[in-house]
Amino acid sequence: MEDLLNKALERFKDNEAMRKVLEAAKANQEKLDRCKRPHDFVITQRVIPKATCRKCGGIVDPIRAHFYLEGIVDARKQENENED
Ligand SMILES: [Zn+2]
Repeated sequence: MEDLLNKALERFKDNEAMRKVLEAAKANQEKLDRCKRPHDFVITQRVIPKATCRKCGGIVDPIRAHFYLEGIVDARKQENENED
């Protein structure tokens, strides 16, 4: 993800509006990467829905948050089954 953002930043270095969007995306990704996991996503914007992590402040789309949380639930279920 970071490589893609860096490549895009290089490509759009002369386009100020695009550069601002990409820099914001990169800052957001850095927050998500530094989070003391697991993320704790809550829906924070409803017109264009977004999910924000209550720990790191990183923002993702709600579908990504949904599958992230579902992955945690599945992993815990599997852990419990392996303990039996
Ligand atoms: Zn987080």
